[in-house]
Amino acid sequence: MNGCENMLLCKSAKRVIWGWCLFVAILCLGGCGDRPSEHRSSLYVFGTLVEISAFTQEDSAFQAAVDELDREFQAMHREWHAWKGEGELVRLNRALARSEPFSVSQDMLDLLERGKRYTEQSEGLFNPAMGRLFGLWGFHQDELPEGAPPADSEIAEIVTAAPTMAELQIEGSIIRVDNPQVEIDLGAYAKGYALNRAVEHFRAAGFPHVIVNAGGDLCAAGRHGERPWRIGVRHPRGTGVIASLVLNGQECVLTSGNYERYLAHQGIRYSHILDPRTGYPVKQITSVTVIHRDGALADAAATALSVAGTAEWQRIARQMGVDQVMLVDETGQVLLTPAMQARIQIESEFRDKVVVKPLIQL
Ligand code: ADP
Ligand code: MG
Repeated sequence: MNGCENMLLCKSAKRVIWGWCLFVAILCLGGCGDRPSEHRSSLYVFGTLVEISAFTQEDSAFQAAVDELDREFQAMHREWHAWKGEGELVRLNRALARSEPFSVSQDMLDLLERGKRYTEQSEGLFNPAMGRLFGLWGFHQDELPEGAPPADSEIAEIVTAAPTMAELQIEGSIIRVDNPQVEIDLGAYAKGYALNRAVEHFRAAGFPHVIVNAGGDLCAAGRHGERPWRIGVRHPRGTGVIASLVLNGQECVLTSGNYERYLAHQGIRYSHILDPRTGYPVKQITSVTVIHRDGALADAAATALSVAGTAEWQRIARQMGVDQVMLVDETGQVLLTPAMQARIQIESEFRDKVVVKPLIQL
């Protein structure tokens, strides 16, 4: 009897095992044989096309993660917009202008605290509290501004009032400010912050090999299979690339420049990056590219170094904790830190314009 029972048990166990083998075999026909490859998708947000590539096997799960990111990005765009709609930043600025306290979300708190830190490290050259000045120059609209620059007296009024992030009083989630000229504009680092979040989002969704590219500003993680991710850095004037580089794991590459947003008047191109000390657009620097693991910091530093100019950028870079920097100045000269030079391949036509500058200027 026992033997027979055992036989039956063996048979049914064997049947189960064979059943599983068949099931796995059918599944494998549908996908186990597929090797991971590059999958691409895109979405439109922050006024730009965001292209996402992942090195994976999971096409449909990847697309679902892209759709989820699209929803997150659209929400960030809505809540962090400096002048449009009724998002959190618009409501915060309205309260600050009336000297009223305002309770912010965790994300906004993080952005504001970072804004304070970057302002301090850059000695005020990075100043997201000067939204009023950016609006005065016509940069609070989707189209490129037209007409003459604002009157000197209007610019002077804001510069004299000296709104700065240092004036933000933060108590828990409550924000207060005594200077009603403070108006926050996250435009110089929100994109870098969002790109970081995108990479975190894909890693959490099971895609550790990803690159998220918003019009040349990007954050990446992992590798492209057997090889690392390789990217091109766009030339600040015209089309084409000025350099290319291989990415090492999680990294972001952020560029600030005056090639996309500017005010053109009587043959002069006024940059949308403004010097908080004078209230006028920066002139000397055409573009700054910064590589760092932290996208928000890289974005903020790229803006701050554009303001710092050829005389001060090395000191400000050191204070902000970035050491991989490329600057293109108005004469077309390409300034590199040694850490940037060690890893970037400048295109041959620009090689005679390269000057390597140590980060520490004595
Ligand atoms: P890009 O859009 O080319 O990446 P930035 O990251 O430098 O350029 O962001 C420029 C935007 O940042 C401007 O449109 C304005 O809203 C804001 N801004 C301009 N000057 C400053 C500054 N000195 N500090 C902080 N934000 C700035
Ligand atoms: Mg920036």
